[in-house]
Amino acid sequence: MRVADKLEDIKKQINEASLKANRNPDKVKVIAVTKYVSTERASEALEAGIDNLGENRDEGLLEKWKVLGDKPKWHFIGTLQTRKVKNIIDKVEYIHSLDRLSLADEINKRSLGKKVKCLVQVNVSQEESKHGLTAEEAIGFIKQLGSFENISVEGLMTMAPFTNDEEILRSCFRQLRKLRDQVQALNLVFAPCSELSMGMSNDFSIAIEEGATMVRIGTALVGEDG
Ligand SMILES: *Cc1c(COP(=O)(O)O)cnc(C)c1O
Repeated sequence: MRVADKLEDIKKQINEASLKANRNPDKVKVIAVTKYVSTERASEALEAGIDNLGENRDEGLLEKWKVLGDKPKWHFIGTLQTRKVKNIIDKVEYIHSLDRLSLADEINKRSLGKKVKCLVQVNVSQEESKHGLTAEEAIGFIKQLGSFENISVEGLMTMAPFTNDEEILRSCFRQLRKLRDQVQALNLVFAPCSELSMGMSNDFSIAIEEGATMVRIGTALVGEDG
């Protein structure tokens, strides 16, 4: 199926979810996660009107960046090894996976003097397999980020547990939103923290109902093998 058709379908769902929650659908940024697909398919997504692409490995990002360059805004959404920061720092608009001070230190050093937009990854569901800070750790961590002058904490990111249980998913997203509100209430200049990056192919509607401002959609938008 063409990306354009899938996008049309997803936009309908975004509108429905936004309407339910009394939100403006324009406030939900769609990030097409292209980690499973070819550069051609990623390019098709851009032609269909997508502006934001997400990759979870530096190799994948660099391969597509060589062809697509700065046409899309790039989002780094995967676990980021400290030694890989230098490969992607000048190419990405957002890093969604800030989860430790050593990584913050490296991003800060390599930032080429400009502010790097970061999201702090929180493991709300506390699944062993997922990276990110616990909700309890997150606030203390964010306060410490104030010592890195080139890091801007634009928001929070989470991956929901792997389940179809709507209540579990909703509760996870809601907890992230509450945490975001707590951070905002601190009024930290380096942490405007307005973004909530949450929701993937199977749960983005619920995430939007709970306040997502960025949804990261792979399978349902570009497929797994385009
Ligand atoms: C792969 C991936 C996605 C997209 O997953 P789909 O289920 O294919 O939509 C979103 N976020 C992260 C962090 C990912 O690694």
